Amino acid sequence: GRVFARLGEKKNRAKARVKFLVAKLGLEEFIRLVEEERTKLPHDDNWTAYIDKLPEWGEKPKKEVSPLKKAERPEGYDLWENNNVQTQRQVGYRVVTIMLPLGDLSSHQMRSLADISEKYVGDTVRTTVEQNIVLRWINAGDLIDLYDELKKIGLADPGAGSIVDITACPGTDTCKLGIASSRGLAAELREMLTPKQLELDEAVQNIRIKISGCFNSCGQHHIADLGFYGNSRTFKGYKVPHFQVVLGGQWNNNADSFGMAMGAIPSKNIPKVVLKLTEHYINNRTNKKQ
Ligand code: SF4
Repeated sequence: GRVFARLGEKKNRAKARVKFLVAKLGLEEFIRLVEEERTKLPHDDNWTAYIDKLPEWGEKPKKEVSPLKKAERPEGYDLWENNNVQTQRQVGYRVVTIMLPLGDLSSHQMRSLADISEKYVGDTVRTTVEQNIVLRWINAGDLIDLYDELKKIGLADPGAGSIVDITACPGTDTCKLGIASSRGLAAELREMLTPKQLELDEAVQNIRIKISGCFNSCGQHHIADLGFYGNSRTFKGYKVPHFQVVLGGQWNNNADSFGMAMGAIPSKNIPKVVLKLTEHYINNRTNKKQ
């Protein structure tokens, strides 16, 4: 931060980021300057004090392990379990992802979810970078009851980690740097893809779509299979909102590689682009097993 504040770009907003400073100075020189800066800082115990407190934040299961009842499963349960439930490393426990469309949760849902969490997992829930909520330490035997309770408050959507689990930054809704409506596009794509989700070829059912309202990447477009970020183009003297299409980023393996920018498309045509690209991928991918 201090190195960037001293030497970073201030005038050209498009280049006011650390990566441009690193490119200008070279990585080695940048690291040298950061390390030099650190030697000037007076030591503060708070830098590492939290490490001693880590054991206090350890999580323990609230419920004893029991097997899943063989009772009849409610409608939609199997799909939800398939998409939203993962096996936890500790035997008998499950990790449940609650998919939040556009990352939104109402105050009513939050209060009810607090009660549900208290009942099944104690006092810890986690938020995720994919704008969902995760409950850990769910006893496998409680899954059907949990599903029923989540369903009553509208939080049992079965699409966690699927093509409809779209990540979007605030964009022009609330961010003053926003160029395009990332949330608007995410809502549009969700509406288009949700009814088709189960009919889609398996190869694209779980691809990730992520959208940023500008090049700043808060919506993580650079690590999506299909990423979009807002920009604009001038057409006949008018500014027309566009999204840059970014393909092939990797969200798993600790975001192993970034996607490639392919070209800017007018915002209103992006839903058609998503359909065309998924269709093209289904028909032309070289490794049919992936
Ligand atoms: S990516 Fe851009 S529009 Fe979206 S939150 Fe970040 S700065 Fe704002």
